Amino acid sequence: MKPHKPVKEFQLLAGNTALDLVNTLDNRFRESGPDELLVSYDDLLRFVQQAGLLTAEQIRRLRRAAGVEAERRRVLEQVKELREALAGVGYALLTEEELRKHEVHLLQKYFHRANAARLLGDDGRRLAWSWPKREELSAPLWLLAQEGEKFFLSEQAERLRCCASDTCRWLFLDTSKNHTRRWCDMKICGNRMKARRYQARLASD
Ligand SMILES: [Zn+2]
Repeated sequence: MKPHKPVKEFQLLAGNTALDLVNTLDNRFRESGPDELLVSYDDLLRFVQQAGLLTAEQIRRLRRAAGVEAERRRVLEQVKELREALAGVGYALLTEEELRKHEVHLLQKYFHRANAARLLGDDGRRLAWSWPKREELSAPLWLLAQEGEKFFLSEQAERLRCCASDTCRWLFLDTSKNHTRRWCDMKICGNRMKARRYQARLASD
């Protein structure tokens, strides 16, 4: 794996946070191995902040939280376990393979636990779920699990696609009118593929 660059921004191109999370294991299917973008708990905090799940102030409090290092590592490992279960289910749905039971069980566990972490209160007008524990080190895990549940149990899941580039295969939500989006990003993968086809045409002429 390449050493990670802490200042680099995440490319949130999927149009959905659960799918952006899956894409944090970059080049997932590359023969020489993938690139892990979530190397540290701090990477995870940057991701949830960029995804808009926590505010800058909440992130600052989590950074300052006196949690032991072991706890941060545990949360990061659980986020990756959640991510890999989401990935397994997502790619299986795309290729119409049977879902693997252990991955579905993992998702069930995380979805249940995330829901149990919410508190029922009111917003002044009606009952509402809230997240009073945003200062807990595990907050990113529960917020991401909730994003996973929201996506995969909704009609949006029918618009799940993956990038047509074999080396990329990033997941995304196809919101194009005719459901014809093929690339995670036209500028990145679309152009690379077009250039390759052009080269191939030149070579065959
Ligand atoms: Zn791509």
